Amino acid sequence: VSTAITMKGTQADKDQEEPSLSQAEQKKQSMQEVRRSLPIFAYREDLLSAIQQHQILVIEGETGSGKTTQIPQYLLETGYSEGGMKIGCTQPRRVAAMSVAARVAQEMGVKLGNEVGYSIRFEDCTSERTVLKYMTDGMLLREFLTEPDLASYSVVIIDEAHERTLHTDILFGLIKDIARFRPDLKVLVASATLDTERFSCFFDDAPVFRIPGRRFPVDIFYTKAPEADYLEACVVSVLQIHVTQSPGDVLVFLTGQEEIETCCELLQERCRRLGSKIAELLVLPIYANLPSDMQAKIFSPTPPGARKVVVATNIAETSLTIDGIIYVIDPGFCKQKSYNARTGMESLIVTPCSRASANQRAGRAGRVAAGKCFRLYTAWAFKHEMEESTVPEIQRTNLGNVVLLLKSLGINDLIHFDFMDPPPHETLVLALEQLYALGALNHLGELTKLGRRMAELPVDPMLSKMILASEQYKCSEEVLTIAAMLSVNNSIFYRPKDKMVHADNARMNFVVPGGDHLVLLNVYTQWMESGFSTQWCYENFIQFRSMRRARDVREQLEGLMDRIEVEVVSSPEDSVPIRKAVTAGYFYHTSRLSKGGYKTVKHQQTVYTHPNSSLFEELPRWLIYHELVFTTKEFMRQVIEIDSAWLLEVAPHYYKSKELEDSSSKKMPRKQGKAKEELG
Ligand code: ADP
Ligand code: MG
Repeated sequence: VSTAITMKGTQADKDQEEPSLSQAEQKKQSMQEVRRSLPIFAYREDLLSAIQQHQILVIEGETGSGKTTQIPQYLLETGYSEGGMKIGCTQPRRVAAMSVAARVAQEMGVKLGNEVGYSIRFEDCTSERTVLKYMTDGMLLREFLTEPDLASYSVVIIDEAHERTLHTDILFGLIKDIARFRPDLKVLVASATLDTERFSCFFDDAPVFRIPGRRFPVDIFYTKAPEADYLEACVVSVLQIHVTQSPGDVLVFLTGQEEIETCCELLQERCRRLGSKIAELLVLPIYANLPSDMQAKIFSPTPPGARKVVVATNIAETSLTIDGIIYVIDPGFCKQKSYNARTGMESLIVTPCSRASANQRAGRAGRVAAGKCFRLYTAWAFKHEMEESTVPEIQRTNLGNVVLLLKSLGINDLIHFDFMDPPPHETLVLALEQLYALGALNHLGELTKLGRRMAELPVDPMLSKMILASEQYKCSEEVLTIAAMLSVNNSIFYRPKDKMVHADNARMNFVVPGGDHLVLLNVYTQWMESGFSTQWCYENFIQFRSMRRARDVREQLEGLMDRIEVEVVSSPEDSVPIRKAVTAGYFYHTSRLSKGGYKTVKHQQTVYTHPNSSLFEELPRWLIYHELVFTTKEFMRQVIEIDSAWLLEVAPHYYKSKELEDSSSKKMPRKQGKAKEELG
């Protein structure tokens, strides 16, 4: 993304008469032409007058019509930022917030981070001068902690409202509330063509402004029989399109980073084998953790004669618009969080996407011309196996984080909070119970001092608690590192297909006794000792970008330690204090060895150590896991060995010593005794 153009000014046409234009000016001018060609442009004045007339407005428009990039600029041009007031625009996804802000900065010819900026967790790219702020919905939610009436904002746009993320849903309730006593605040709820009546209804019948989209017909093709391996089916379909179909780029929807990388590798490999027999195929991935310079590539125009294929998560469903897509390949799956409120277990599962999602995906093929969508499932499955629409996240996730935040905002009565769709009662109760067990709430459900400190950290309550507990165990240095490393999402170790053996050996070299958290700590410490070297990462099959991000996260967390009065001290010699601190945060996630697998202590669910874990072959009796992922079975990812006695020390109100009796430890001495007898 070019941010070299730093001159200021938003007046589109002022230099049109100039005889020779600099390249930058030309670029800017063509960008202004693109702006004027967007469907929303024809409605600029109508939209602005509707905003002027109504405090709350719902805006509906086809993906790509210009809602996200244009509306904030229109508001800016109309003077909504006078007196330094901010125009905020939320996005459910980090990538979208960053990429859209970069695009708008480019359109305005300003440097990203000046007038236009973005704010996502652990990364603030704004300054004093920022008046147009793109941010994740979670970040705006946290701003309520420091500015409960959002006084510095003149307009708040809740974008991608149809995504119905947990944070967006909570924002709905909070913003509806503050709008009552801030009549000067404008609230815009922007959404793809889905659900807008419901938004209108929730916001006391706010009017809906519809931007008619341009949409070309899309032919939809189904498979005759279900696909056994949808990844392989994607690869084959892309190549078939490439060889048989007329020009036009391809968009493939997969569920996550790993799948996307595999798909891209397979495509590249097969193209290499076909060599000059086929035209050039540019294969570009896009997913949340992809570094931003790589993200920007998906937007660059395809060279003549070549074809671009973008392999994306459902971020490309509505959040990002890629021009030039004519073909969409939709395997019909997405990765979804699901939550069992009885057991408190949260897992990420690959599930069939909803019909609404499938239709959005298909729509991406018809933006610039008539297109085709290849669904890698049967028409029958579309009708009978897919849900009509995606269940809002609030109904399938752990609410600990949000409950803690609402409590910190002084909202005590959560049962009567103005939810658009209320969470299940048991989920709410469980969140309260968990926060009580963590010590964040007292028995009356009121925030404790510990809870207040926990809420200061922009991480989940368990992680917060772990960090705060490190104070007592005098190992906050190490625990901060672990927290940061856990936050970068399993992308530390690099394992290229052609060097798997080397990569696995390199990984083995980092193994230390005690478990994965300590391995992560070891990686970070060695990297630090190398002077944060890129070369070191390369030699050790460590992803430099992930490490750099971990370092950023760590710095940010360390910066917050002052505020929550935790002294940063180190316990380099002994891992017990570190493991105790982890236990203090994650005692809910305890499992016990049982017949070759594990069982969770409270609910007797069968779970397994992840094959990537350093403890995969060791099978310690007691484990704490960081998270569960369900693939072929329920796997614990990032595990650490603990002593069950610690559970009584860190969570005496949650565990009874009877529950922790070690059945196998009773048997063990007997066996050993017998062995001794035999020997003797
Ligand atoms: P909406 O929010 O209505 O889906 P956007 O405002 O995101 O639409 O996009 C409008 C248009 O702006 C897109 O069709 C595309 O042409 C252009 N655009 C948006 N983001 C980028 C980007 N990062 N790079 C290049 N063009 C972009
Ligand atoms: Mg948008």
